[in-house]
Amino acid sequence: MDEPTQNPVDRRGFLKSAAATAATLAAQPNVAGAQDAPAHDHPVVPPDVALRVKAIESLLVDKGLVDRAALDAIVDAFETRIGPRNGARIVARAWVDPAYKAQLIADPRAAIAALGFESYQGEEMVVLENSPKVHNLVVCTLCSCYPWPVLGLPPVWYKSAAYRSRAVIDPRGTLKEFGLELGEDVEVRVWDSTAEMRYLVLPERPHGSDDLSEEALAALVTRNSMIGTAKVSLTAAGEGE
Ligand code: FE
Repeated sequence: MDEPTQNPVDRRGFLKSAAATAATLAAQPNVAGAQDAPAHDHPVVPPDVALRVKAIESLLVDKGLVDRAALDAIVDAFETRIGPRNGARIVARAWVDPAYKAQLIADPRAAIAALGFESYQGEEMVVLENSPKVHNLVVCTLCSCYPWPVLGLPPVWYKSAAYRSRAVIDPRGTLKEFGLELGEDVEVRVWDSTAEMRYLVLPERPHGSDDLSEEALAALVTRNSMIGTAKVSLTAAGEGE
């Protein structure tokens, strides 16, 4: 299955440890040439960013502008309840129901809402249908815009500078690194997400899946296939965070 591994550290614990790391780093004297030091382990989120988030959150809570429990509930919803399984159900429905597929492409928001998936970070959506001749790939070159209601929170690699730049400079090379080699006769289209517009790839239904139920089809649909870095196969493969 392609379910991402859940991070055992909760958000509050993460912010606390990141803040402590930032404080330690801030206490160290600057060393000339430190930027040339050999590569070492970096936290996923730079400690200064995490520290800033913690400081802003503390201020907002102190001023009574936000409620800590409400923030936790929102983050928990996107981390654990909303995820790529929503998108997989949409894809599977589109594969078995031509009328739904037509609606999904013509009016994605309404079609997605019809299955009960509607929330922010997905107000304006475009569904991109893959075919034997066209392969769509989604990126956010600026930051990490992503269709939250259908895919949950973006994986770490989606937010990386390497993916954000290489997906547009060398999409075929990027896809190869994901293990997806496309023929020269396949057109690769790269879509740059924005705060206003999010994209969901409708992957091709795999050959040999004619007898599968909608539920069984949904189980085959991976997160990466809905970003465009993979195809759907009859044997679902695991995906890294
Ligand atoms: Fe973005």
